[in-house]
Amino acid sequence: MHADLETLLALQDVDKEILRLNDEVAALPKRVAAIEAKLAGTKSRLEQAQAAVKADEVARKKYDAANQDLQQKISKYRDQMLAVKTNEQYKAFHHEIEFAQQEIQANEDKILEVMLDSDAKASQVKAAESELKAETAEIEKQKKIAHDKTGEDEKLLAEWHAKRNALRQRVEGEWLDHYERIAKARKTGLSEARDSKCLTCHVTLRPQVFAEVRSGLKLITCESCSRILYYHVVEKTAEEIANLGPKKRSKPKTEAAQAWYFRSEFGDHQDVFLVFMNGAGNFADTSTRRVYDIHTGRAVASKESRRGLYKHAFVEDLVGSLRINGFWKEQELDEYGSELPAIVLDPLQRDLALAQRDVLAHAHAAVAAEATPEKEHEEVSS
Ligand SMILES: [Zn+2]
Repeated sequence: MHADLETLLALQDVDKEILRLNDEVAALPKRVAAIEAKLAGTKSRLEQAQAAVKADEVARKKYDAANQDLQQKISKYRDQMLAVKTNEQYKAFHHEIEFAQQEIQANEDKILEVMLDSDAKASQVKAAESELKAETAEIEKQKKIAHDKTGEDEKLLAEWHAKRNALRQRVEGEWLDHYERIAKARKTGLSEARDSKCLTCHVTLRPQVFAEVRSGLKLITCESCSRILYYHVVEKTAEEIANLGPKKRSKPKTEAAQAWYFRSEFGDHQDVFLVFMNGAGNFADTSTRRVYDIHTGRAVASKESRRGLYKHAFVEDLVGSLRINGFWKEQELDEYGSELPAIVLDPLQRDLALAQRDVLAHAHAAVAAEATPEKEHEEVSS
């Protein structure tokens, strides 16, 4: 991978972490504010309940006072009744007393109502008070957490900013500007390319563009979203290789008109696919060889023709090469020109991984087979 691209990937990770920490720092006061708003609600509920209790007391005092007045009135009427001369006067006082007693009764009913109401209000006050106490304790706790966390985050942010500055200095100016411009506008400045696609905007990349991204030799941007594209060469683990496909890989035929091979070295190149083809018709007495880089699919040598079947004509290439499955028409390969597309490259790479798994399994079996008689031999000699 291009060194600038590797640095940009590291920079992207750092930027993501800085973003996360900034978000966290911004979210902390919001959490405190939310509890504070709840606290204010509880406070006003408490005040309302307290005011209602007070209003009940005032009302009760008012009715008590009214009843005292009425009682005084009644005893005054009774005194006056003793001195009346006529039946008419006596009836009038009696009527007044009855009326005052009715009023007293009505006031007492109201007092009872107020008392019941103030019992309910008092329990509301009690509930609001204990809620307020719990919320006050909680807010103090949250404030402390927010304060501590902010301090921690700010320390981390300073560290990440230092890392970021160091990384920025390692990237070529033009690419850094491009990365930062796109990252600012679209949150990320880089995008992974896989299966001929930009994985962020999902646009299909032209074969040539994808091959260039795969090669990792220069920086390529997505034509659609402008992000800088990178390709992860996934190194398969032994377990992944074992799970790649059917337990038994179908072996390529040895005698075939076309045969694909893998070589770890070819001239100055490493890791190549070779394809040999015996000619047909007028070219029945010639064979050809094409060579491609296994990662990029690019031709690393021009097509070579030799007289005779490939197994004789190119015998030096076949020794030490690993035979793999693959077949494409010669016309198709001609059309692909100097670069194999992913539809060719992917199955070749998959079969290569399987072939390498089989080679490993054979090697293990051979080691195991050798180890067993050795042990027996030792036991006999001792
Ligand atoms: Zn894109």
